[in-house]
Parts: sequence; C-alpha cells; structure tokens
Amino acid sequence: MSLTKDLVEKVREKNPAEPEFHQAVEEVMESLEPTVERHPEFVKANIYERIVEPDRAILFRVPWVDDRGSVRVQKGFRVQFNNAIGPYKGGLRFHPSVNLGIIKFLGFEQVFKNSLTTLPMGAGKGGSDFDPKGKSDAEVMRFCQAFMRELFRHVGPDTDVPAGDIGVGGREIGYLFGYYKKLMNEHTGVLTGKGLDYGGSLIRPEATGYGAVYFAAEMLNVNGESLEGKTALVSGSGNVAQFTCEKLLDLGAKPVSLSDSSGYIYDEAGIDREKLAFVMDLKNIRRGRIKEYAEKYTSAVYTPVDPGLDYNPLWNHKADAAFPCATQNEINEKDARNLVSNGVRVISEGANMPTTAEGINVFMDNNVLYGLGKAANAGGVAVSGLEMSQNSLRLSWSREEVDQKLHGIMKAIHKAAYETSEAYGDPGNYPLGANIAGFLKVAKAMVACGVV
Ligand code: NDP
Repeated sequence: MSLTKDLVEKVREKNPAEPEFHQAVEEVMESLEPTVERHPEFVKANIYERIVEPDRAILFRVPWVDDRGSVRVQKGFRVQFNNAIGPYKGGLRFHPSVNLGIIKFLGFEQVFKNSLTTLPMGAGKGGSDFDPKGKSDAEVMRFCQAFMRELFRHVGPDTDVPAGDIGVGGREIGYLFGYYKKLMNEHTGVLTGKGLDYGGSLIRPEATGYGAVYFAAEMLNVNGESLEGKTALVSGSGNVAQFTCEKLLDLGAKPVSLSDSSGYIYDEAGIDREKLAFVMDLKNIRRGRIKEYAEKYTSAVYTPVDPGLDYNPLWNHKADAAFPCATQNEINEKDARNLVSNGVRVISEGANMPTTAEGINVFMDNNVLYGLGKAANAGGVAVSGLEMSQNSLRLSWSREEVDQKLHGIMKAIHKAAYETSEAYGDPGNYPLGANIAGFLKVAKAMVACGVV
C-alpha cells in the first residue's frame, strides 16, 4: 500500500466514529500522493503523519442559564490544528450537529485553506452543540459568555484567533469579544468578524460569498468565459449564501435558489436585489424561515425537505453554475449527476466539504470546473487575516481597498491551484492543485522548524 493510503487507514483506526474527519483526510491524501516521490525530505520528517494529528484538542463543559432559570450544559471544543505558518486561525460553529469529528474535519481543511491565502495563518476550529435557533438574545449572550469563560485561556491575538461559522455571526462575535475584553482587560484582535465600531474590517461579512464568486469567475476565465448572463443555483441562506447572491448580481448572473434546513425556494425569475434585501432582513434580523420568501414572492416555489428522498431537489434545476453554501455533504453522487445533466458546468463551494467523494468523482469525470471549498471559500479567512493586520496596525482600510485585496487573493489562489495542477500533470484539476499548493508551504515550514 502507498504511504498516503496507509495513512488514511491509520487515521480511520486511530480516530473511530469521526467519518467527516476521515473523509477530509482521504480527499487531501489522495491529492498528496505525487508529492511523496518528489519530496523525500517530507517523508524523512514524517510530515504526512504529523499533519493529520492536531497540535491539541480542547474539550470543555459550557454551563449556562436559560430564560426560565434552568441550568443547561453544552459541549465546547477548540481544536488547534497546526501553527507552522502563523497563529491558529479558524471559525467557531454553533450547531446541534457539532462534535469532535466535525471540528477536526474543519480544522484539517483550514490548514490547507489558510496556507493558500498567502497570509501567515495557522489553522484551528471550534464550536459547540449549542443551537442559537429559537433562543432569545439574552440566552445567546449568556451562552457566549459561558463559552468564552473557558476559551479565553487558550486564545489570543498571537496564539489563536477564532471567527464565525455556522450559527456564529456578528451578534455572537460581539458577545464573545465583549466577554474576552472583560476577562482580560485588553482590547486586542482576538476574534475576527467583529463589528465595524469595535475593530472589524469592511468586507469581512461579504468576503466568503464574494470570494466564492470571484473564484468561479477565475475558473471560467481560463476558457475565455464569464458569469454574465449565467443562471446559478445557490444553497443556504446565511452569511455565505447571501453575499454569494449579491456578487452574482454584481457580475450580471442570475441566482435562482436559496435554502435552509427546512426546505428550499426556487425562483425562476431570479433573486434580484430587492428580494435579496428581503432575505437579509428575514434571516439576519427577524431570524425567520426561507419559506416566507415564497409567501411574499409568487414567482417562487417552496419545497420542504423530504427526508425520504436520496437526493436534494434543489440541485435538479436547469442552471449553468452551482454554489453550495449551506453545509457538509449536501451534494451526493446523485445530486452531482443531476447537476451535470441539468447543464451545470461550474461549481464553486462556499461551504466546507459540501460534496461527497463520489460526487466529486462525477464532477471530475464530466470535466466540470470544480472549485473545492478550501480554495473557493478561502476569501472569508483571507479577509479575517486582513482584519488582523488592520488591528495590529491600528488602522482601517476602505471598502474598496479590502475588496481589491480580496479579489487579488482569490486570483492568487486560483493561479496557485491551476499552476500546481499543471506542474503535477493534470491541468484544471483544482483539488489536486489546491491541496498540493496549500500543503507545500506548511510542510516546508514544519521541516524547517524541526520535530516539535
Ligand atoms: P450561517 O449560519 O450564516 O448559514 C448557514 C445556512 O446553511 C443556513 O441557511 C442554514 O439553515 C443552512 N444549514 C446549516 N446546516 C444545515 C444542514 N445540516 N442542513 C441544511 N441546511 C443547513 O453559516 P455560514 O453562511 O457562515 O456558513 C455556511 C457554510 O460556509 C458552512 O459550511 C461554513 O463552514 C462555510 N464557511 C463559512 C465561512 C464564513 O466566513 N462564515 C468561511 C468559509 C466557509 P438553518 O438556518 O435552517 O440552519
């Protein structure tokens, strides 16, 4: 067996009951196989086995009091995966599905993603099985304070800088930051995604979605095409989905779908700026369900989730492009086949690992331009990196400046992924190119730093 296949088996044995982590490791290791022969120094330093083991995983109890006065207990996690090229950096996810395996898969992906951004950021990820849905603002605040009551001792602007992810947006970052500030008596850049009034960066909320669209535009550009006039399927309706729609509109494309965990809307007429403003208010202020979109706009059809189906009907509409922006494994093999047979030729992943391994194979076999998450959605963490720079400089850059830098970074990520895929003999194989390009920088830094 090859070194990388052998390692995948070992990871399965040593980390039972963590299927998402196994999936993420397998996908990366498959791409890294050709580096084994070209880099004997990595084998000698046992980099492959070291890179799949997090530096540390912190598990903690988060007790908090709900509005009725009952004491509740949640699980808290922070996995500090790798700090070879910079402080640990990666979001916090609050969702009932969160467990150690999910956080490890996200932290592992972050190693390669952060390296691709060209910025000096290591990798971490964290979160809790707390569900902010249906909780009052006061409950969310008390939970965030309880979470930070333990997390504060493990993070810091030069140690580990968390940000948002599913269930952690501007409101949660504000409460987390406020409590860190209180405990430490320090106003530092310990979190990113902060509000503009207290150290946040312009374009940070937009960055992941904008970046995923810039990445799709770059992939199309290789073939002399653009997004103008193209129809796009988008899933999710949170931060990443909203700003994916906004940038698609900026570039002349037509987004036609959005979803949440209850169902999806398909609006053949297109989600224009007015409808998008309705979604932003619905999701960010009123915290309602996407179903209400179809109640307001008669051009849209709402389809509730049918757990009996072995595919997601959202991916079964005619379109040119698809932007999965909800969660992991939301496109399976059948969905991938449906996308291909409906004419979709470009996929740019706003979400982390939204496509199963079988789904990815369908895209590769059908020459779909496939922008994997760790390249396509790196814009979010890239602008988090820019927020850290602005905090250190005690300056804030204009909207145009940050957007220009984000655009430049997305082009650089695309170039690195494309050129590396060429150098490894399979031009346009973005998973191969992005995984290898991200890996090389981290592996070289690990070799240089010795066995630590
Ligand atoms: P939000 O919490 O803002 O939105 C998540 C959206 O996805 C909601 O519409 C939610 O619906 C839906 N969703 C979540 N879980 C499920 C599920 N199990 N099944 C169906 N729908 C689901 O999160 P973000 O937009 O920030 O994150 C979306 C994706 O993008 C995640 O994969 C995240 O890791 C990734 N990402 C985010 C970055 C960021 O900067 N925020 C950076 C890079 C990647 P509901 O409200 O019903 O739960």
